[in-house]
Amino acid sequence: MLGKAICFTDSFVKADQYTKPDDSGMCCVIMARVLLGDFVVATNHSDIPSTSIQPPCKECMTTLCKSKPDNPHPRFDSVVYTGGLHKEFVVYDNWQAYPEFIIFYKRL
Ligand SMILES: [Zn+2]
Repeated sequence: MLGKAICFTDSFVKADQYTKPDDSGMCCVIMARVLLGDFVVATNHSDIPSTSIQPPCKECMTTLCKSKPDNPHPRFDSVVYTGGLHKEFVVYDNWQAYPEFIIFYKRL
């Protein structure tokens, strides 16, 4: 995966892959506005360790930044994953996403 983050996609097909129907067969996705800011593109899931809790460092180009606490390196705001059939947009802070609609549906 892409770390301990919140993942979004611009593809409803991809979002549907992550849903699980309830007992009545109802599925749910959330349509949100997402602030990506200054993002970095990742093409492999292995580019972002699954334990990552923040985006990669801009200078070290990894989530495992080697800066000193008194002089921290700046980090990207988000990750855009392009290695799959559908893009994924990854943010690490709740404030970067605004849920706008909840869509309930049943698969036919
Ligand atoms: Zn760094």
